[in-house]
Amino acid sequence: MREIRQIVDNKFDLAVVGGGPAGSLIAALAAEEGFSTVVLEQRIMPRSKPCGGFISARALSLLPPDLDPDRGPGENVHTLRVIKSARSFTYCSPGRLGLLVKREHFDHFLLRQAAGKGARILEGFTLRDLKEPGCFSGHVDCYRLEAAEEKTTNIFARYVVGADGALGRCGFLGGLRKTGINPCARGLSELVETGTGHAVGKDKAGTLEFYPLPGLGGMGWSFYGSGWVNRGVGGLFGPGLLKKAYRELFAGELPGSGPSWWPLPFLGPLKKAGRKNLLLIGDAAGLVEPFSGEGLFNAFKSALLAFYALKKAEQLELEAGGIYNRLYQKHFKSAFLPTLIGAFALHSRAVLNPASLPRHMASLMNNQLSFTRQFKPWT
Ligand SMILES: Cc1cc2nc3c(=O)[nH]c(=O)nc-3n(C[C@H](O)[C@H](O)[C@H](O)COP(=O)(O)OP(=O)(O)OC[C@H]3O[C@@H](n4cnc5c(N)ncnc54)[C@H](O)[C@@H]3O)c2cc1C
Repeated sequence: MREIRQIVDNKFDLAVVGGGPAGSLIAALAAEEGFSTVVLEQRIMPRSKPCGGFISARALSLLPPDLDPDRGPGENVHTLRVIKSARSFTYCSPGRLGLLVKREHFDHFLLRQAAGKGARILEGFTLRDLKEPGCFSGHVDCYRLEAAEEKTTNIFARYVVGADGALGRCGFLGGLRKTGINPCARGLSELVETGTGHAVGKDKAGTLEFYPLPGLGGMGWSFYGSGWVNRGVGGLFGPGLLKKAYRELFAGELPGSGPSWWPLPFLGPLKKAGRKNLLLIGDAAGLVEPFSGEGLFNAFKSALLAFYALKKAEQLELEAGGIYNRLYQKHFKSAFLPTLIGAFALHSRAVLNPASLPRHMASLMNNQLSFTRQFKPWT
């Protein structure tokens, strides 16, 4: 998919930095709406990303029907199991709890959809610097986005969406975040191919297994696809302790090439996510769910809110950042404390009453817990 042609016209209405799920969704929506849109992605797709690969039902409900990943490979999930102190508690849902995917395929699928809607995709473009709106090379009121790669053309855009993930630079360059890694949880995962005939995974395809690890303020998991398993550990501690927990949890199981870790930023709602015409979404805005480490629901939700802010900014001739900050306050900041208390309650339940945990986790996946707010943009 790499675009190697020299860009002749390097000015766009919107530059989206990062071609992960959050960036691809807003790029698809904006391009369809008529914004000239470019996605700047440092890697060449398909690329891997440490992740469990589970897209919950509530996250799927936020994708427009024509971006539904059901058309690609994936495993419908109906069974959720919590295993604690050698006891196992299972919940079988009548409806689908979500879809299990390999992230490299899913992310590539979404980015291709954005390209299909008219967004330009520039892979191998690593944002190095972002200059405040000004008049550059005759482009008025545009941000200038500079690449780290030599001989790569600068991009000019009236709006910039930072969808560059937990370690992205947009927030820092745009004056919204400090440099370095902000306080966050962490997760590590690996995908192990078992083959379809393997005894472990054969009957479990479409099952999520969770192993509460209260000492780490987190949990481990095995998510079973057809012929593969995604296993990992997440929690509040550093990669060293997580790796130790991982080795203990999966000792004696099929060996893999080793897990990779990545931050799980969840404190973003305490900060602003928009300034002038720069908006942060997804992990770049720090929107991971603090109990489960689920990030895709809020990645999609923030992409939809940012898209709404862009449209309003065009109509009202206002800065998109101010509009987005008000939406962000309502949908993320005001919900933050209840979500944190809810996360604490669920962690306590994992210790005190694990039998009820699978049902509560299923409710979270369907956005039916009391601390979650309904958000249904497509109905
Ligand atoms: C171990 C682990 C397990 C997880 N499991 C789940 C799960 O099962 N379900 C779930 O919902 N969530 C899960 N999450 C969270 C989920 O992976 C993230 O929330 C999600 O990927 C966020 O999407 P995003 O588009 O915001 O960012 P990302 O997916 O991180 O995409 C950001 C993109 O920006 C690009 N980029 C970064 N910097 C630059 C730059 N300077 N210039 C250009 N491009 C750049 C990156 O290459 C990347 O492609 C998990 C996270 C971890 C760490």
